[in-house]
Amino acid sequence: MTSKHPETLALHAGWRRDSATNAVAVPIYQTTSFQFDSSEHAANLFGLKELGNIYTRIMNPTQDAFEQRIAALEGGVAALGLASGQAASAFSVQNLARAGDNIVSSTDLYGGTWNLFANTLKDQGIETRFVDPTDPEAFARATDDRTRAYYAETLPNPKLIPFPIAEVAAIGRKFGIPLIMDNTAAPLLVRPFDHGAAVVMYSATKYLGGHGTSIGGVVIDGGNFDWEAHPTRQPLLNSPDPSYHGAVWTQAVKPLGPIAYILKMRVTLLRDLGAAMAPFNAFLFIQGLETLPLRMREHSRNALAVANFLAGRKGVTRVIHPAHHTGEAAARSAKYLPHGQGGLCGFELAGGTEAGRKFIDALKMVYHVANIGDARSLAIHPASTTHSQLTEAEQAATGVTPGYVRLSVGIEHIDDILADLSQALDAATA
Ligand code: PLP
Repeated sequence: MTSKHPETLALHAGWRRDSATNAVAVPIYQTTSFQFDSSEHAANLFGLKELGNIYTRIMNPTQDAFEQRIAALEGGVAALGLASGQAASAFSVQNLARAGDNIVSSTDLYGGTWNLFANTLKDQGIETRFVDPTDPEAFARATDDRTRAYYAETLPNPKLIPFPIAEVAAIGRKFGIPLIMDNTAAPLLVRPFDHGAAVVMYSATKYLGGHGTSIGGVVIDGGNFDWEAHPTRQPLLNSPDPSYHGAVWTQAVKPLGPIAYILKMRVTLLRDLGAAMAPFNAFLFIQGLETLPLRMREHSRNALAVANFLAGRKGVTRVIHPAHHTGEAAARSAKYLPHGQGGLCGFELAGGTEAGRKFIDALKMVYHVANIGDARSLAIHPASTTHSQLTEAEQAATGVTPGYVRLSVGIEHIDDILADLSQALDAATA
């Protein structure tokens, strides 16, 4: 597929027809195993002399079509579908760092990622140094000889301030450190590889799937990072791997292209930890990708209209949306989100927690759920739900005030979205 247009790639990249039946839609290959042609074929597959299907924990044709399509849309070279976004975050780091190593991460993260880094990876001996994303140089200051990766979200909620991808990626490249971007909130709107990131991951559960049906994740290799040039900085890709007969990944994978990072993840972490994407979910994510360009445009258009509407409403003290920032944050939005700001929008109610709860309870069409990126509009009041275990000061540090409401604006007709928000605001501010 030679097109550069996401609308075309979303429908055609990575698949033409089924080689056995000529089926146009990607079949759900619901099989655990694949028959080898011969003992030589089997040995070649296991020895990575040839790439092919062995066992669905490691690779499957339905997963493969999804992986090729998202890699093409992202401008990367190869991808690995996984069971969840959490698995994708964990693997993206564990692929480079082991006990005694560290990563530097933005503080502005999804709560599940924060827990993974601050607790579970820490217990495994991988330290995360959290730094302020508004100060790119903070990444350099937190770096030492054992720093293996930088990590951030493109458009973290609740603040919705785009991360300085190019600035931090450039700092990392000087040290031989790749920037891993969680692009869950901004697929197609931001292509982190274009700004120098080396790895992109998604919770496919959100916009990629787009219909609130399936949990999944994916890691994409940009193929744009020279791992071999940094043998001491990146030992896991440059020294013999005892779990694969002493393979040195940058050397062993060379004939297959610049895919050492993602192939190692597949044949070691996925092999050993087993967080595989089910073929049926891969099929649903392919369906999601087919309309992703259309949906991101509509999400962006509707969320901007919602933000503008909220900005004029009595009882709303602040609107949080990339087009409503000022100063440095506004400059970031202009630089990274010139073609649409995504579907997320937050606002603060003067009436605090009480008003936030009343607003949520009064919604008739918009769903009250702890998710984002569904085609339907969704809302949540973080202070009384997702962030309720934090103190008010801790909540404030993450950007959550008592009257803060998060909206994931869907693709319903804008008049219906505004009507529901309007009547709920009336109820909350009465
Ligand atoms: N990253 C972000 C930005 C998320 O919002 C989420 C889920 O909410 C995750 C990662 C984790 O993804 P999953 O729920 O698919 O494991």
